[in-house]
Amino acid sequence: MILGNARLRGETGPETGPVWLRIEGGVIGAIGQGAAPAGPGDPALDLGGALVLPGFCDSHLHLFAGGVSLSEVNLGAIHSTGELEQALRQAARDLPAGAMLCGYGANYDVMGEGRPDRHRLDAITGARPVYIVATDYHCAWANTAALKRAGVLRGGPAGADVVIGADGLATGELREFAAMGLVRRLAPSGGREALGLSGAEPEGVSQAERDRDIAALKAAMAQCAALGITTAVNMDGTLYQADLFEELARQDALPIRVSLPMTLVPGMDAARRAALLARAASADVGLLSFGRVKMFMDGVFDTWTAFRTDDYPDRPGFRGHPLFGPEEFARNCIEADAAGLSIATHAVGDGAVRATLDGYEAAARANGRRDARHRVEHVDMLHPDDLARFAGLGVIASMQPVHPPGSSGLPLEPTVSIMGRGRWGDTFPWRALQAAGAVLAFGTDWPVSPLSPWNALQSALTRRVWAAGVPDQRLGFDAVLAAYAEGGAHALFSETLRGRVAVGMQADLVALGGFDEAALVAGAVPQVGLVMVAGRVVAGGLAKGGDYDQGRLA
Ligand SMILES: [Zn+2]
Repeated sequence: MILGNARLRGETGPETGPVWLRIEGGVIGAIGQGAAPAGPGDPALDLGGALVLPGFCDSHLHLFAGGVSLSEVNLGAIHSTGELEQALRQAARDLPAGAMLCGYGANYDVMGEGRPDRHRLDAITGARPVYIVATDYHCAWANTAALKRAGVLRGGPAGADVVIGADGLATGELREFAAMGLVRRLAPSGGREALGLSGAEPEGVSQAERDRDIAALKAAMAQCAALGITTAVNMDGTLYQADLFEELARQDALPIRVSLPMTLVPGMDAARRAALLARAASADVGLLSFGRVKMFMDGVFDTWTAFRTDDYPDRPGFRGHPLFGPEEFARNCIEADAAGLSIATHAVGDGAVRATLDGYEAAARANGRRDARHRVEHVDMLHPDDLARFAGLGVIASMQPVHPPGSSGLPLEPTVSIMGRGRWGDTFPWRALQAAGAVLAFGTDWPVSPLSPWNALQSALTRRVWAAGVPDQRLGFDAVLAAYAEGGAHALFSETLRGRVAVGMQADLVALGGFDEAALVAGAVPQVGLVMVAGRVVAGGLAKGGDYDQGRLA
């Protein structure tokens, strides 16, 4: 196939054109200037001057939860009780009586001033069980009906942080996955999409439930393809999810590349750990790859579960806790590293980032230094002493330009106060890390943040400092694109195969009509004309008759 009448982004930014690209065997076989040659058997597709970029690699997202979220109510734009009541009432209309109503993306000011609790929710929801997940997916709020149905009104089992009020009953706030899962399992989805975060496997899944789950994964991947995301690193692998994806890969039913790190959690017994490590070492199947594990070192700032190197300003003497002790984490790192796997660890607080780097160092000491492509996920706060360790250890910073408060519709509070004014200069340090030689890999953490790479690009380019004197961490347009393509490919050992539009690279491409950098910065969304993965058209307005002819922007 020949893609004609295309433009490419030049080395330093300006766009060239017109050019043609010959795609053969899933690879870019040739690129030429001017009009496309009329070769026998080469159907030429006129891109109408569209800009061809490497397909996006979303280096950190959650396809299962994202797919399920597509049928739930998005509360990301809501900042008052009145708006919340309206949104929930509207969503309830589509639900069978008695079914639990689920929302997601709720900011901490979703009910205006003050955090939500069950009494405030009850006042606008009545008797229907309601469960809303915070924008960070590390916290949720349930009303009394939902808490009662889940049997947690008087508290949860040990290890589940069901917040208890002065009256001895649950306030409705559920912190972190163990507590959230107690209510989440009552959702119409069965809550199986959230199990990967707590490292648990679903039990007794019926065929109908399995079909439902596969439909959610397919919907999630179609959404990715439609937005120009050609590789998704799906950060919550379980044996169950691995089987679902493998089944789809064997049917050649993956429209995009998916990498599935397997989740290890603290206190996991040796047999379970061995099973996950073995699954992580599985060979690739079509567009599906394994080769990595995922761990959580801490939570998030908004629930004081981020682990930091200094005290929380509003909680003297308290720094949060690492989820893994140093011995257990080092052992897991050494085991995974010795098996040739890459390790991805969620670390939001600077204490967690440090503990994670310590574990990677322990693996290098025990097993010898190798090109391991271990990575730290998020890095919301970084102690300056640890900045140079990323490049020094070859550790990738997997970050989300949509996460800084003030970006992508996120309010500044309560996060910036919980972080503390004295530490603002150490937060979301994209540019500092890049300048210190670290490879950046960008993503969205969808459904934590919107999946759209356009929204993420815009957030990256328009991030504003929270106060004068705080370093500007914005990157230039090409650096952001590189973090979204080449950096992601590097993290998957694929930088010689993907992440650039060049002869010999795999044909993972997105063609954009009406693309304009200034307009994008101002919030415009380019038209996705064509999305190609391994030379196959998977989405886009030009993808008529393609295998995945659903290329509409959501
Ligand atoms: Zn995540």
